[in-house]
Amino acid sequence: MTVTYRESTPPTTGSLELACPRCQAPLVQKGETYLCTFCGPQGTLRDGIPSFASPDFYWGEIPRDEMQQILEKVRRRGWRRAVHEDLAREYPDRYRYLFSPLRADWFYTGCVTGRGRALDLGAGWGGLSLLLSRLFDQVVAVEGVWERARFASLLFANEGAGNALAIHADMHSPPLPPGAFDLVVMNGVLEWAALGGPEADPEAAQRALLGTALRMLRPGGSLYLGIENRFALIFLLGGRDHGSPRWMGVLPRPLARWYRWLARLPERRPLTHSLAGYRRLLQESGFQVDECYAAFPSYSYPRVLVPMADPRRLAWAAKLSLDWRGDGLTLGAHLLHKLACRPAVSRLACPLAESLVIWARRPARAASRPCPHPGLRAKLVDQVISRWTDLGLEAPAPSRLSIVSTSSNWGIGGKVSWFLFPPGARRPTLVARISRTPDDGGRTANEHHALTSLSQFGPEISNHLPRAMAHWQMAGHSISLQRYVPGESLARHLCQGRASAALAAALEMCLPFLAALAWNTRREVRPLLRHPFVSSLLARAEKARAAPDCPDSAAKLIANLVQMIEAQGEAPVPVIAHHGDLNAADILVYEGHFWVTDWEWFTPEGLPFLDLITLAASAAARTGWAAARMVPRIIRALVGDEAGLTPPLSSRERAIGREYAQAAELTDEVRVPLAACALLHALLKDREARYSGSAEPLSEDGLWARAARPLLVTAAAAEKGGRP
Ligand SMILES: [Zn+2]
Repeated sequence: MTVTYRESTPPTTGSLELACPRCQAPLVQKGETYLCTFCGPQGTLRDGIPSFASPDFYWGEIPRDEMQQILEKVRRRGWRRAVHEDLAREYPDRYRYLFSPLRADWFYTGCVTGRGRALDLGAGWGGLSLLLSRLFDQVVAVEGVWERARFASLLFANEGAGNALAIHADMHSPPLPPGAFDLVVMNGVLEWAALGGPEADPEAAQRALLGTALRMLRPGGSLYLGIENRFALIFLLGGRDHGSPRWMGVLPRPLARWYRWLARLPERRPLTHSLAGYRRLLQESGFQVDECYAAFPSYSYPRVLVPMADPRRLAWAAKLSLDWRGDGLTLGAHLLHKLACRPAVSRLACPLAESLVIWARRPARAASRPCPHPGLRAKLVDQVISRWTDLGLEAPAPSRLSIVSTSSNWGIGGKVSWFLFPPGARRPTLVARISRTPDDGGRTANEHHALTSLSQFGPEISNHLPRAMAHWQMAGHSISLQRYVPGESLARHLCQGRASAALAAALEMCLPFLAALAWNTRREVRPLLRHPFVSSLLARAEKARAAPDCPDSAAKLIANLVQMIEAQGEAPVPVIAHHGDLNAADILVYEGHFWVTDWEWFTPEGLPFLDLITLAASAAARTGWAAARMVPRIIRALVGDEAGLTPPLSSRERAIGREYAQAAELTDEVRVPLAACALLHALLKDREARYSGSAEPLSEDGLWARAARPLLVTAAAAEKGGRP
């Protein structure tokens, strides 16, 4: 199974009837014109896009002429080259903003009760709408800047989102029928409400825009607001809120008005509020406010979401974030994280977060019964609480659970993890891993299956696995519920200076586990070349090498791999289960014990030692050569007498192991990492193929940057005779 988009079709309005932006009467399309029976012509069909605004207005992240050049390039060079090559290279931030799969991960924390239509107000280049098109029957992206609406329309057509429609219109008066949407999205939009709208006063413009959003929603429909916090720590420290002069946003409003007059700033300006301010604004506009989250690092990339109602959870989230990106943080950010790890500080720090995710809803009609589809969050929490003791958890069941949401970056088929905290608990009790889209290629189910089936092989394996508790299909998502395991990732350990010693200890610690896994799941012995995993690996490697965009360096690596494997062709190799993605981040270490997590790539027909090579290569990417040099040593240890494996290895298995170790020993500083690189490269290529047509096609650059490049650079240095 692969993750695919819906069939690509030319953009149509589908069952959605456009409505007059003035009087809401249905519009009739006559030729290229949209006509209102009462108000006359309202818009035209421009390049296939319903257009209701002036094409002269421009506002954007990049200058207009550059935006026009991008559109021109798409016309000249075609979508794939103009976007996935040129744009990715020339505007990497824009490209990431467009295609990062975690940009809409706020979605799951809401209680969106219907999946009919979503409206993205102020949709920009259309990236969010593209993600939402996987979750809704139809998505309408309203954008007031012609060039951006044009780009969004091309994006939908070329990335296969035939159910997404771009409309060029002022977001204050979209040509859409009232009450037609289950979700209205305003992502980084409300603060700019005065820009280009009829109201010059920012707060009046915001009320008007919220009024429009309310009108577009059906009763019970949800509003998502992603926006900055006026009293964010960064603004209190003098950071500029949307380019305003320092501290202007945090000043009391009358003083700010005076300041603005003094500094001769324009009246139409961005305006942010405190969380209380947004609540008031929403309530006064007729909304009912649901849940609010602090988003880290931002609502544009909501990697971690902490509920504002339970701000102490920030302490735990800060620890987790240190664990994930400790080595990538600046000193200042590192100190802030360290501070936030203290529960007393986190309670105060959460309200100072820069980025907010706010959920509100249009109240349902008083007469209507409660919605039969309560939304993913409510459904999951209800299910867990009602089955608390059945799941083997200590009674009594909690009355509520708060959620910290975290994201993995891997493609649209990736997942969102929710850490579930009972009231008062210092640590989460459970983790729910939720597929981003209805179709995750069966990987959430695969993980659940791997954890339950492998745990039957005795304590040598089961003691190192998170406990799988349930697998559910819920609101169109595949959910695996697991017992939370505490710990710090091995990757983090490796970044703390004592890398090689920690690595040596950790790898040796994992050996008995990997050996037990191999022994218990062994199926049969086949010649290497007829091994199912190897034959598919070679086919993929050859395909990658034949690709016109394969760099020479990668081609060389792959040739090397193929040569190595072919040289061993008839060597008999056992077919065993393997983790499939055993990188250092997937091993959690806690008080001398370790757990192996993230089993979604588990395969029952794997290759011995491949997990080890992946682990060594991923660790080597962080520590340099130490890990790579360990591979032959580890293999020797595994096949040696002192490994003390039960049952002991047969002489044939030992011979195979020694052969592996010998191959790995051949100038191990170069060959092993090269082979590991090539293997990883082929694996990553495979994943790219699985996601072909996904929102995040991995460019060659992306692939190398992710795993192999650090190794390659060191390998090149070693080949020149320098010490890495
Ligand atoms: Zn009209």
